[in-house]
Amino acid sequence: MYDLIIIGSGPAGLAAGIYALRARINCLIIEKEAMSGGQVINTYEVDNYPGMPGINGFDLSIKFREHAEKLGAQFIMEPVKSLEIDGDIKKVITQKDTFETKTILIATGAQWKKLGAKGEDKLQGMGVSYCATCDGAFFRNKVTAVIGGGDVAVEDAIFLARGCKKVYLIHRRDELRATKILQEALYKLDNVEIIWDSVVEEIYGEEKVEGIVVRNRLNNETSNLEIDGVFVAVGTIPNSKLIDGKVEQDSHGYVIAGENCKTKEPGIFAAGDIRSKELRQIITATSDGANAIYSIEKYLYNL
Ligand code: NAP
Repeated sequence: MYDLIIIGSGPAGLAAGIYALRARINCLIIEKEAMSGGQVINTYEVDNYPGMPGINGFDLSIKFREHAEKLGAQFIMEPVKSLEIDGDIKKVITQKDTFETKTILIATGAQWKKLGAKGEDKLQGMGVSYCATCDGAFFRNKVTAVIGGGDVAVEDAIFLARGCKKVYLIHRRDELRATKILQEALYKLDNVEIIWDSVVEEIYGEEKVEGIVVRNRLNNETSNLEIDGVFVAVGTIPNSKLIDGKVEQDSHGYVIAGENCKTKEPGIFAAGDIRSKELRQIITATSDGANAIYSIEKYLYNL
């Protein structure tokens, strides 16, 4: 029997683990993959986590994990299949075991959203990618397109421009959503061309990506762009399958919980990107981890 089971080992889950261990809360962290870290492990450079300017996302994840391990965190690697959250004792059911716990912290994060363009599914892994840092090296001296206008799209375009002959950034509006410092870095690059007010209607190719059909939203004209790779960076969707319908969620499926990370279900808490919030950053995820443990302590000890 655990006091707390944390599901997910990204920045929110690991920060929660660190705070829980320091509070002497008997906890288990369940992760679905060998590599902890959530989305951050695929980030080439993190330049906004205080004290760690320019750190590689993978290295930052390792530091989080080592910190939790140093304090004695107990991990198991097994996908969670289902949760039973009614009553004082909750059950976390994995493929092999059933774990009992007084509280659960959902820190399962979010994953990349698909574009929904024709040909996207067929060519995934054959030139269509959702992770520039994972797959960018395959496109050295080639022509690629990044779709989106947020932080991830601009970071991806900057990263790809280091190795690609040319990078198109295709955005549906005439203004980027990404933070200004990233925009400034992007505008300095000679081999990046931004295609404004445009959407990708089709990604085509037989065995691999050969090109895309782009439609200008202002005049509806379409054009073909011959490219070798497409990087989709149009936002995220919550990894909420485990708790869909069990806790209150917003219209996009994110879990509704305040800054204290408490859901309306007794003993069930949510932290990090899975939580309905305005700003999804590593620092807001780790902050959730700390706040969640503060709330969990109060719940466990009736404070
Ligand atoms: P995001 O900020 O939601 O941006 C998604 C972009 O994709 C927007 O520009 C959006 O256009 C566009 N888009 C959405 N659906 C589209 C569609 N169907 N077709 C074409 N374009 C579409 O998502 P993100 O860039 O993935 O970032 C996710 C979160 O992670 C953000 O909160 C971001 O700040 C955060 N992040 C944090 C760090 C860090 O902490 N260091 C690093 C990277 C990202 P509109 O602009 O028109 O809506």
